[in-house]
Amino acid sequence: MGSLWHPFSDMGAVETAGEFVLARGEGVRVWDTAGERYLDATAGLWFTNVGHGRSELAEAAAEQMRTLAAYSTFGDYATEPTLRLADRLEAIAPVPGSKVFFTSGGSDSIDTAAKMARRYWVEQGRPEKTVLVSRSKAYHGMHYAGTALAGIPGNREGYGELVPDGTAQVGWDSAEDLRSTIEQIGADRVAAFFCEPVIGAGGVYAPPEGYLTEVRKICTEHDILFVADEVVTGFGRIGGAWFASSRFGLEPDLVTTAKGLTSGYAPMGAVLVAPRVWETFFRPGAGVWFRHGYTYSGHATAAAVALANLDLIEREGLVQEAARLEQTLARVLAPLAGHERVTEVRSGVGAVAALQLETPAAAMQFAVRVRDFGVATRACGAGAIQVSPAFVMTDEEAQELADRFREALDAPVQAEPATEPG
Ligand code: PMP
Repeated sequence: MGSLWHPFSDMGAVETAGEFVLARGEGVRVWDTAGERYLDATAGLWFTNVGHGRSELAEAAAEQMRTLAAYSTFGDYATEPTLRLADRLEAIAPVPGSKVFFTSGGSDSIDTAAKMARRYWVEQGRPEKTVLVSRSKAYHGMHYAGTALAGIPGNREGYGELVPDGTAQVGWDSAEDLRSTIEQIGADRVAAFFCEPVIGAGGVYAPPEGYLTEVRKICTEHDILFVADEVVTGFGRIGGAWFASSRFGLEPDLVTTAKGLTSGYAPMGAVLVAPRVWETFFRPGAGVWFRHGYTYSGHATAAAVALANLDLIEREGLVQEAARLEQTLARVLAPLAGHERVTEVRSGVGAVAALQLETPAAAMQFAVRVRDFGVATRACGAGAIQVSPAFVMTDEEAQELADRFREALDAPVQAEPATEPG
């Protein structure tokens, strides 16, 4: 074995079973080092939204690297692609007039939003508003705040109390639970509610009818910041709009993003900050600093890649393609609901879906076994198989994916699970 410690893995099992090493990608296909070809059912970790092998993104990166690869954006420093990207994001943000705080990825965006929310209330003269509320099944990255907000069993355990007296969790599908929890804690102590518009890593769960509108309303009524975690759902994944928040008519105070911003061609995230929040920090003469940021916040090469990625999405109408895939995935996966090993098929909101198997172990085993049938996917949530392809997946390729899932479901069960859901 080599020296790599894989994230979210049982390394004892990986050392025994070996690694799955990918070498190349094109569109919705990837190839391993032995030359075997796979349909990429998940677009990596929900991020290769424009598909693999897009040379114009490589060219955008190369050109920027040759010109000025990166510079800090601390203080008053900036680079041109960083400024252009911020303006571009403002133009598509769910709330007009938003400001953009760049990060290196989704976990950074979450911890930035958590700190920004708390600082906002301090600046408002209400420092006792500190509690961050999240939902069961939630995945908000793996930094300290995100881990404390985790709603997937296991993801929060083993680290002690990460944000003392600072978090509370509510049922993922109950607006009433949010209301009663806020009233129990006291709205004057709650800073923000973190909400994935469609739950991703927790197993792909669409919100119940009316849920998002209701929780948004509850936050407004109780003067609590509403944070839409759009790390998965942003940049067209939910179909028909750049952001799920726009599709559902929410006006989040903060929107956390990453993944689809660059389609994963460079690591980058961003927090979109509505005027209500940023105005508190932008007061001339008040001397307010947000003493937070990352070396690679607004990284010039990542920004150039993001701009090229957004151009490509626009030019190829990929936000509309994601809406087509919503229909296609629902249609091709529905017949699998009848399979004896499948307890539920979840689909219908955006280019995301899941096959629910009987147990987490069954899903982990299946995620490995299905590679023998030419599909790369993963287990997520508690026993779900993730489907979140690139928006360029054709209807024929989606049907092929469903056919291969069926063949693998029909095959005898074997092989040890090597990865954990995350
Ligand atoms: N929020 C959500 C909703 C996510 O799905 C993820 C990653 N899967 C994150 C935050 C964390 O992003 P990253 O892994 O880029 O830190």
